Amino acid sequence: MDFDTIAAVATPLGEGGIAIIRVSGPSAIESVDKIFKGRQRLSTVDTHTIHYGHLVDENGDVLEEVMTTVMKAPRTFTREDVVEVNCHGGIVSVKRVLDLILEQGVRMAEPGEFTKRAFLNGRIDLSQAEAVIDLIRAKTDRAMKVAVNQVQGKLSNLIGKLRHQLIELMAHIEVTIDYPEHDVDDVTRNLLSEKSRWVQDEIAKMLRTAKQGKILREGISTVIVGRPNVGKSSLLNSLLQEVKAIVTDIPGTTRDIIEEYVNVRGVPLRLVDTAGIRDTEDIVERIGVERSREMLSKADLVLLVLNFGEELTDEDRKLLAVVRPMNAIVIVNKTDLPQQIDLDEVRGLAGDLPLVTISVKEEKGIERLEEAIASLFFAGSVQSDDLTYVSNARHIQLLNEAHKTIGEAIEAVESGLPVDMVAFDIRRTWELLGEVIGDAVSDDLIDQIFSQFCLGK
Ligand code: GDP
Ligand code: ZN
Repeated sequence: MDFDTIAAVATPLGEGGIAIIRVSGPSAIESVDKIFKGRQRLSTVDTHTIHYGHLVDENGDVLEEVMTTVMKAPRTFTREDVVEVNCHGGIVSVKRVLDLILEQGVRMAEPGEFTKRAFLNGRIDLSQAEAVIDLIRAKTDRAMKVAVNQVQGKLSNLIGKLRHQLIELMAHIEVTIDYPEHDVDDVTRNLLSEKSRWVQDEIAKMLRTAKQGKILREGISTVIVGRPNVGKSSLLNSLLQEVKAIVTDIPGTTRDIIEEYVNVRGVPLRLVDTAGIRDTEDIVERIGVERSREMLSKADLVLLVLNFGEELTDEDRKLLAVVRPMNAIVIVNKTDLPQQIDLDEVRGLAGDLPLVTISVKEEKGIERLEEAIASLFFAGSVQSDDLTYVSNARHIQLLNEAHKTIGEAIEAVESGLPVDMVAFDIRRTWELLGEVIGDAVSDDLIDQIFSQFCLGK
């Protein structure tokens, strides 16, 4: 494939520190070399080496002090020649460097174009490319690990294994069709149904991770409710952690900082503030039980806070009744105060909801609260970092279809239908799984997927 040379800023803009401008394509080294002044010409250096120098304009005037990394194809992210120019992170200098590079016959990259090239040049498959989007958007380390696994090809390998099995089945069927005198015997039918069931089970397993995958990817929308002064804002503050930008060694995946998320054991809580239901003080009073239930039920998780140091009020009782059928946790705060609340009554009103006593002031019980939140969303599932969670809506849809189609193959084979009908469903399943990793997907879809990226990735 013939590509031109592209460039873009690869680090978040305006962050200060160091910015990286990435250039990729056949003339990448030559283009930067034209404006680079260092001890060596970049066109003569070894691959994967770093060089200190200055960028100069056409008059020979020094513009910037830079470090350039020269990486020759094919051992690069895009499988093309790549030069990365590290310069001071200020917006002005970054723009000046980028403009100068763009004047050397280099084109500004479209969002996602580097990753798209990695895909088109066969460096990564489509599911890996899509995981780069997840990586950039990851809200917690754990979400990031899942995305990294996927970028590194975990999902691709799984899909590959299933497709391999299906290919073997198709070959098996071919043989039977080619020799019609050997009608499909019971042994073959048993084999077909057994292997197809295995494929179906594996797909089902992947789909079971979808809910958690979605949570990791999008966060749990969370509302904290309770009467005034029970400690909602204090709780929120204690849950809040400093969110740091995380840089991985996978190129193009420096992620931007997202602050409105609370990280609980790797589970991102998204504190929602729609229609003012975040830190809600008196919604039941204000809008009534039914409406407040309707509003709160839009959240994935409700944290109801009560006061250990006060008797239960009618407002508390109403709130308990509202949240009881929801995904909620009852939190009794201020255990450092003398007990006034009737915990037995609270337990009765809370029904099956988890109940946690804490003191935000003395920082007691927060661990248990985090535990309760994590187990509410990851109950029964292995919390292993190398789990492959399917989280992408496109993948989930394809896997659902594949699950259905292989089910039809199983039905056909077990009800004694002609074997070429079975073959049809097995082939279709193979194709659907192929679409997950980008085998035979349309150009339109590829464009659509890569347009979701931000610039410079
Ligand atoms: P909100 O109105 O529900 O958001 O409550 P705030 O978080 O604003 O807290 C109300 C008051 O309770 C503040 O003075 C807090 O310092 C105090 N408070 C919060 N948590 C605790 C706690 O665990 N123990 C005690 N004794 N006071 C607390
Ligand atoms: Zn408050």
